[in-house]
Amino acid sequence: MHLLPGMPAPLARLVEHLGTLPGIGQKSAMRLGLSLLNKSAEEVKQLADCISELHEAMGFCEQCGAFAEHEHCAICNNLRRDASTICVVEQPVDVLMLERGRGFSGCYHVLHGRLSPIDGLGPDQLRIASLDRRVADKDVQELILATSATVDGEATAHFLARRYASGHVKISRISRGVPEGGELEYLDEYTLSRALDQRVVWEQRL
Ligand SMILES: [Zn+2]
Repeated sequence: MHLLPGMPAPLARLVEHLGTLPGIGQKSAMRLGLSLLNKSAEEVKQLADCISELHEAMGFCEQCGAFAEHEHCAICNNLRRDASTICVVEQPVDVLMLERGRGFSGCYHVLHGRLSPIDGLGPDQLRIASLDRRVADKDVQELILATSATVDGEATAHFLARRYASGHVKISRISRGVPEGGELEYLDEYTLSRALDQRVVWEQRL
C-alpha cells in the first residue's frame, strides 16, 4: 500500500482502504475519509464497530443459504412465508434484491454460484444436494429458477429443470424481463418483481 503524498498517515491509510470499495474512486475515498474526520469520535467508533463485527455477526442460513444472523434466516423462520414455493437464486445478494420488490411470499434456495465448467464449478460445488432434499419434500410444489440470464445461469437453470423434471414439483423460470447477460444484482426492484410475477412454466418456454 502506498501512502498518498502530503496526507497524514492515518488518513491516507483510511483513504486507501475506502478506495478499494466498489464504485469508490480516489476522489470519493478522500471525501469519505474527510467526512469521517468531521464526525464525532463516537459516531466513527460506531461505524468502525459495525465493520469489525460484520463477519462474526453474519453467516448463511443452514436451510436456504441466504445471509443469516442465526442458524436459520428470517425468511425460513417466518411461518407466514409460503414454504411450498422455492425460488432458486445464485447468490445471497439475489435474495436481498428480490425481497426489495416485496411481492414474493415464498422461500428461497441459494446455490452459492452457478455451473461454470471453465471455472471448475460443477454440481458438487453448488448447494444442490441440499436442494435435492428440499425438493424431495412433498409439500414443495413449485421451483422457480431465478438464476441469471447469463450463459452459465441459463445452463444452470437447464440442469436443474432436467434434474427435477420427473419429480412432483412444477418448474418455472423467471421471465425474459431480465435482460440477456443480466445479473439479478443490477436490476431494479420493479423489473425483478415483474420477472418473478410473469414467470413461465418450464415446458412452455421457447
Ligand atoms: Zn433461510
